[in-house]
Amino acid sequence: MNAPIIAMTEASGASFTLLGASVSSGIAIGHAHLITTARLEVPQYEIAAADVAAELERLDTAMGKVHAELAELEAGALAGELNTFVNLHRMLLTDVALSQAPREIIQSTRCNAEWALVQQMDSLVKQFESFDDPYLRERKADVQQAVERVLKALLGSAHTPSGPSHEEDIVVVAHDLSPADMILFKQHKFAGFVTDVGGVTSHTAIVARSLGLPAVVGLHHARGMIRENEVLIVDGGQGVVIVNPDRHVLAEYQLKKRERDLEQQKLRRLKTTPATTLDGTTIELHANIELPSDIEGVLDSGAAGVGLFRSEFLFLNRADLPSEDEQFEAYRRVAESMQGKPVTIRTLDLGADKALAGAGPGGPNPAMGLRAIRLCLAEPHLFLTQLRAILRASHYGRVQILLPMLAHAHEVEVTFVYLAQAKETLSRNGIPFDPNVKVGGMIEVPAAALTLAIFLERLDFLSIGTNDLIQYTLAIDRTDDTVAHLYDPLHPAVLQLIAHTIRTCNKAGKSIAVCGEMAGEREMTRLLLGFGLRQFSMHSSQVLAIKQQVLRTSLPDVTPIAQRILRNTEAAKTHMLLARINA
Ligand code: PEP
Ligand code: MG
Repeated sequence: MNAPIIAMTEASGASFTLLGASVSSGIAIGHAHLITTARLEVPQYEIAAADVAAELERLDTAMGKVHAELAELEAGALAGELNTFVNLHRMLLTDVALSQAPREIIQSTRCNAEWALVQQMDSLVKQFESFDDPYLRERKADVQQAVERVLKALLGSAHTPSGPSHEEDIVVVAHDLSPADMILFKQHKFAGFVTDVGGVTSHTAIVARSLGLPAVVGLHHARGMIRENEVLIVDGGQGVVIVNPDRHVLAEYQLKKRERDLEQQKLRRLKTTPATTLDGTTIELHANIELPSDIEGVLDSGAAGVGLFRSEFLFLNRADLPSEDEQFEAYRRVAESMQGKPVTIRTLDLGADKALAGAGPGGPNPAMGLRAIRLCLAEPHLFLTQLRAILRASHYGRVQILLPMLAHAHEVEVTFVYLAQAKETLSRNGIPFDPNVKVGGMIEVPAAALTLAIFLERLDFLSIGTNDLIQYTLAIDRTDDTVAHLYDPLHPAVLQLIAHTIRTCNKAGKSIAVCGEMAGEREMTRLLLGFGLRQFSMHSSQVLAIKQQVLRTSLPDVTPIAQRILRNTEAAKTHMLLARINA
């Protein structure tokens, strides 16, 4: 976001600070614009028996209006990820729980349509809250957002987050924002947004990151405490919102924002600069994507390829499974767009926090249950369909296949049997594909990192998924915020597994990358380079910042410090050495 720094006068109200969860970094300075959540202002009244039919008709009209609104959004050539959220809201409104139950409440209790909807929504929310699976629990927000759309239609207030004319001057403040609302943000140039509710893995948070707007969620009482037009500073990186900042704080943040904007502009000049260290070693910087629509950002970042296509996102928030043709089109689009650069498509990493709609939480301990390669091998039809689709796309670019969450040799061996079967089917039908498509594996389980020979023997390349490797090494559920403080990428056990994997692959002459969040964290770049890593894959918005760090790094200088960090087991000393390597 490069909105000009606005001329902001010191606010007259009391200054206070709110802390929430950081969703999308950057600094926004603007005036608060409060979006009304209709749910908070719902009228409740009794209707006469003679008016029940009219009330039902009122509800039907509002429902029809919302369906038309959502259909229009869907038809508006939305990015796939955003489209799936709209799709989900339409599905929810079509379900009998929302299309029929409120009608029955009106008929049986003779209450107004708004009140019937709210009662039904509350009961559904309770059901969602009782799910064990955190992903499904978070879907209660989708129920609330879908119902709020109907409430707004009933209340006759067309909802739009536009409002005042100088959009770059506006920070949107809401109880919650639906992904459908977020879609509207694409057509506007708001400074940022803050919300009372929402986890960092909520759909709204995912879309916020993809829009690149500074944002803070989970502020709890922002909507009630902030008044319209008050001056706000949103520090998206720190998860901080300062309301009515005094002159000095305002000046300090304006300076910070200016510096950040300049920094971002300077970074853009690096797009075509080769990622080479000071001593002349070339480093490959690839991008991670969730959906084909992310490819524009990848091309913009100058990334050398797609290092991780999380293909399971094509399967989320929909009632059906994408067909082989639909998958093929998605993979082909990415392969063609990258024009000969490598595109690494990870086979389905479904399960745990990424369950299919309607699927259960995935056993008593979903992170250790039937997920990723385990699920694919248990569902050959699902796996074969995807393998055929990827193979077909391999004819249109440099596609390679990546297998998630490997722990056993037989997982690779059985995969090769299915791959041969998929190739055979395509050949029989005269469908072209790359017969030499490369197959790699993700090192995400300590058992795999400790038995690399098994995988090096069978696979063409490896990629370290640090997010899961940390989770499984330290026995910490990465989605459970009660143990989030124990999630430590610098734990000596984690670093030893990473360094051992890189060293072993380099020695064997096999390509090795890191594609977890660690690859996009600037303070980890030199450490990973010092461990011998030469290929990184991260969100496209991080590519240029990491390239800048690579350009400023001398491998002979950082390697000995990285080795000292590796030998060290004291946390304080590790942090001291990390500061030194990054100095
Ligand atoms: C990882 O685990 O580091 C990874 C890249 O995969 P995901 O985050 O999709 O589990
Ligand atoms: Mg993973």
